Amino acid sequence: MSRRKLSRQQQRRIQKNQQQRIAHARSETLEQDCILHGLVIKHHGKKLLVENEADGRVYHCGIRQNLGSIVVGDRVVFHPLAGRADTLAGAIARDPGAGVVSALKPRHTCLQRSDGAGKTKIIAANIDQVFIIDAPPPLGAQQAYNRINTGLIDRYLIIAEKHHLQSSIVINKIDLLSTQELHRVKDMMQIYHRLGYPVLYASIRQELPQQLMDLLAQKNNIFVGQSGVGKSSLINVLLPQANARIGALSAANHKGRHTTTAAQLYHLPQQQAGGKQTNIIDSPGIRELGLWHIEQQDIIRGYQEINYFAVNCRFRNCQHNNEPGCAVQKALSEQQISMERYKNYQKILESVLS
Ligand code: GDP
Ligand code: ZN
Repeated sequence: MSRRKLSRQQQRRIQKNQQQRIAHARSETLEQDCILHGLVIKHHGKKLLVENEADGRVYHCGIRQNLGSIVVGDRVVFHPLAGRADTLAGAIARDPGAGVVSALKPRHTCLQRSDGAGKTKIIAANIDQVFIIDAPPPLGAQQAYNRINTGLIDRYLIIAEKHHLQSSIVINKIDLLSTQELHRVKDMMQIYHRLGYPVLYASIRQELPQQLMDLLAQKNNIFVGQSGVGKSSLINVLLPQANARIGALSAANHKGRHTTTAAQLYHLPQQQAGGKQTNIIDSPGIRELGLWHIEQQDIIRGYQEINYFAVNCRFRNCQHNNEPGCAVQKALSEQQISMERYKNYQKILESVLS
């Protein structure tokens, strides 16, 4: 008797469970059918954080097979799975909703590097502009304050030119320079200014130059530069809630800390209603950019002023060393090409050829 009663209870439970499963499966299929368009704001492990373009909600997404590599800045099509979606702020305490990325939209640009084993890796996609950040060495360091690393700036410029991206240079931490030292740095940076690259001077301890905001506006920007020059600090000033967001994303990442190797995309507050979004990608990993495998052709292309004169060299394969009729040497002697840039050019070429 009691056994029969128990089995009826069991039967009811089984039936109820099954109904729940069917309902769940239905809702899952329904949501699977829902196609959303998103922007990849962070990549960690095999998962992506994807922001729904329509409402800004963030989903923690897996990737369908055979989509190749998907990176920060990519535009994708994704399907939310049953579960919660969350705003970024809310993601501090909770997981973002789950989803699956099913398609990658065409990229208009992508920043690539070689991983050293000859394989190309994409760092970020759909970037319009590269901000090369540099800074004088910290107080107490032995170096002279006018020593800005132009060799590194040139390497970043070569990469940016290779990908047809606009570049700007920001010299940060100018509060560490005396007036005289700042003058010296500005003199030195004239080389880049004359080549048409915007050169900005900034400090997180002072109001940031309006030109920085103007250049960033309505573009997809990436901050590159050596570790410690102040990339994250600048973003924190531009976007005070960036810190909270790093916390939020770390929580979503189940690691409880900010993974310093992952690129991350931030939106700047909209300056103009209806305008395009202003985005900044902070990429701690991108400091490796200076060591990217660069081809000889890319180096040559990266030096626009050398190219400009080189067409007049007597020999087509002129290396611009001591060859007779070298128009680059002539321009150097007439100070139409800066010796600093030319030396960097030779050094970078040598490092690639050796
Ligand atoms: P990142 O590695 O390029 O992201 O550099 P961080 O933003 O982590 O900054 C490195 C250090 O430089 C931190 O201790 C910052 O407080 C400091 N820093 C950043 N910007 C400035 C600045 O404009 N002036 C001074 N004096 N220090 C700065
Ligand atoms: Zn030449």
